[in-house]
Amino acid sequence: MRNSFIPYGRHEIGDDDIAAVVAVLKSDWLTTGPVLDSFEQELAKFGGARYAIAVNSGTAALHGAVHAAGIGPGDEVLVPPMTFVATANSVVYHGATPVFVDVEESTLLLNPGEVEKKITPRTKAIIAVDYAGQPCDYRKLRQIADTHGLVLIADACHSLGAADGGRPCGSLADLTVFSFHPVKPIAAGEGGAVLTDDPQMASRIRMFRNHGISTDHRQRQEAGQWYYEMVDLGFNYRMTDIQASLALSQLKKLPGWISKRQRVAERYDSQLAGLEARPLQVQPGVSHGYHLYVVRIPRRDGVFRLMRAGNLGVNLHYIPVYLHPYYRKTFGTKEGLCPVAESAYREIISLPIFPNLAEADQQRVILTLKNALART
Ligand SMILES: *Cc1c(COP(=O)(O)O)cnc(C)c1O
Repeated sequence: MRNSFIPYGRHEIGDDDIAAVVAVLKSDWLTTGPVLDSFEQELAKFGGARYAIAVNSGTAALHGAVHAAGIGPGDEVLVPPMTFVATANSVVYHGATPVFVDVEESTLLLNPGEVEKKITPRTKAIIAVDYAGQPCDYRKLRQIADTHGLVLIADACHSLGAADGGRPCGSLADLTVFSFHPVKPIAAGEGGAVLTDDPQMASRIRMFRNHGISTDHRQRQEAGQWYYEMVDLGFNYRMTDIQASLALSQLKKLPGWISKRQRVAERYDSQLAGLEARPLQVQPGVSHGYHLYVVRIPRRDGVFRLMRAGNLGVNLHYIPVYLHPYYRKTFGTKEGLCPVAESAYREIISLPIFPNLAEADQQRVILTLKNALART
């Protein structure tokens, strides 16, 4: 019998999650209502921020965060190329230019030294990406941002539940963005959120998700009023209470899931030691979220094919964003822009990791990788 397929990431849905969603389906509010309020409060507490604004995707959260940062045409925003396209796209949505800054060889996280080199009078913000679930060096990035008057945004779509020096992701930047897509740390179906301590930015994002209108439907119903004002240009980026109920139920289980992911990663670390596979480094003091487990290997394309042939859902994160046809055509970007990211791109592979990855399944991944390295 053929071995069953093991994906690179997988959500976990329990009976408690199902009960939480069903309760909303039987209630009076399907969209943005009381459960969304509870989710936002719990998420803000969890991430160590004053405010959390939930929206309907991580991409919408990035769009709102860049809006709150006041980015517009002519501005430049520094972004790493080792990320999902949505990070850079959120800058383009506002008519600004994403300026790609290379990553560190050992972690594939934004390199603060390279950040300083790319700052110009047009630079307005930095979007750091917590690649694979490891927080960036926010102490250094904070210093740079303060020196040059930049807004510091964390794309923490991989790192909800991770921490640096005991400080949770959500509290390390001016604005922090999370995603609740099913492969991410918690699932809402689709969903995202922005965390911030800044009341003005929080209120801008709250309006941005609701067409730029200053009150929402529930506030007006509760106040018995019909009058509203649209004061800004916004979108319909609202999260439903159905999604919020799933996310809230999942959030309670996240600390346990992070520990399980860390145990999976420890087993990879110890069993891949001495092979040609090089794991990424973890910085001291970091509690890694392990959204991804990434190793650098030689002969990657051959190894990748053999692992897929073994019915393993290995993946590749990421193609450097500026090498995509849209970026080449629109911004004239090309090979050579970020050499560290480009050489990593030729060597990286994401191995399966999720909280309930069975030890026997992980052993199959490790054995298949060893055989593939020996046969290529
Ligand atoms: C998933 C992801 C996003 C986008 O989140 P969605 O919820 O899918 O819109 C943005 N940035 C990074 C780094 C991501 O991994």
